[in-house]
Amino acid sequence: MGQRIQGTEDLYGGYMRSWEHMQDVARHLFGTYGFDRIETPALEQVDTFVHGIGESTDVVRKEMFRVFSGALLDDLLAAGNESGLKPRQRMAMRPEGTAGVVRAAVEHNFVPQGGTPAKLWYAEAMFRGERPQKGRLRQFHQVGVEWLGASDPAADAESIIMLMKFYEQMGFSPANMKLMINSMGDAECRPAYREKVKQFILDHKDQMCEDCLERAEINPLRAFDCKNEGCHAVMKDAPLISDNLCDDCRTHYEQVKAYLDAAGILYIEDPTLVRGLDYYTRTVFEVEIPNAGVGAIGGGGRYDGLVELEGGKPTPGVGFAVGFERIMLALEALGVSAEPAAPSCVYVACAGAEQAPVVFDAVLALREAGIRCEADRTGRSLKAQFKQADKMGAALCVVIGPDEVEAGVVTLRDMESHEQVQVPSDQLVAEVKARQ
Ligand code: AMP
Repeated sequence: MGQRIQGTEDLYGGYMRSWEHMQDVARHLFGTYGFDRIETPALEQVDTFVHGIGESTDVVRKEMFRVFSGALLDDLLAAGNESGLKPRQRMAMRPEGTAGVVRAAVEHNFVPQGGTPAKLWYAEAMFRGERPQKGRLRQFHQVGVEWLGASDPAADAESIIMLMKFYEQMGFSPANMKLMINSMGDAECRPAYREKVKQFILDHKDQMCEDCLERAEINPLRAFDCKNEGCHAVMKDAPLISDNLCDDCRTHYEQVKAYLDAAGILYIEDPTLVRGLDYYTRTVFEVEIPNAGVGAIGGGGRYDGLVELEGGKPTPGVGFAVGFERIMLALEALGVSAEPAAPSCVYVACAGAEQAPVVFDAVLALREAGIRCEADRTGRSLKAQFKQADKMGAALCVVIGPDEVEAGVVTLRDMESHEQVQVPSDQLVAEVKARQ
């Protein structure tokens, strides 16, 4: 028997309804903020992610699923390395959404120089070769937004406000959420800060783990995220970006906070919040549900250099992504039910084979009127059909037998009270609608 790959999930039943609900919430809410949906391919050239996410990130170095066709893989194994491959032959499954959306924006010139910003949202599966555990999957789902072409701090603030509204509409209360924000500086002030952190790590190298020593060279800010207790303790005394921002970044950050204050959004400033991807500049943010034990349920930030890295003209951007599976786990931990009820259904029961054509017509008429309905197609007895209707959660059963056909009526049976009434068969749709 085939088995799904560890760290992947089948979405069906109530879980699928939840995923659809999350997309409905996104479509509605993000629509009111002026965002349109986009879907980019799950497969992109590796370079799209390398340029966008950053060569030094764990996501690119360790977690991307690479894809080769069978024929290409044979060539590759024979050659022993990838050097003969053309860029378009080097493919990967997307580990996150931003790089692909930005690639598409550059390719289709969504934001002509000085033109109207592009505001896009997506709901897609992401793929990361991580060690599977609770809330950490190899194929998971994100809803995210990208706002390209707006440098104003109001865009950062609106994105954060929209994110917090989204969580509220998914069932979280503001009191349960912890929003952390920071500014990571920009091309003006971050390089010098990065050097300071690198030097700090090297000055404490005896107390830091191997990974952090490697990070010191390629991505020193990631040392703030190290899970190692020793590193964590050392990094508590590391220089903070908040003390090293240039004037423009400081002003931008102050304005973002002023907008959040004006909107009544509660946040905690965390000067060690650096996020895993290289592309962030200035504002970054992350949301957690304390005590839910699932880690961050979403995050994002500004990425003013990313469009250029993907080959476009300088274009500012800000966005976020939330994880569907983590949201579901967090809601469960809080005891909030996030599963929309199964849609109601009408069951049309058939007493005998002679009535089958009448049932056939009744089912078509109901569906034509947009009513979800079911009929037996396996030759069950009437009793078994009622059982089936119950199992499907049908609130109403239409019963059609020889007497009904003779009298030109149908019987409507309330599945809860078992009360029955007969109505003229040409009134079927109207009578069913009246009872829904
Ligand atoms: P990131 O792009 O890493 O900030 O991810 C954004 C959100 O996606 C996170 O806050 C999580 O909710 C979710 N997420 C990231 N990685 C995974 C994963 N491996 N499994 C499940 N959810 C994830």
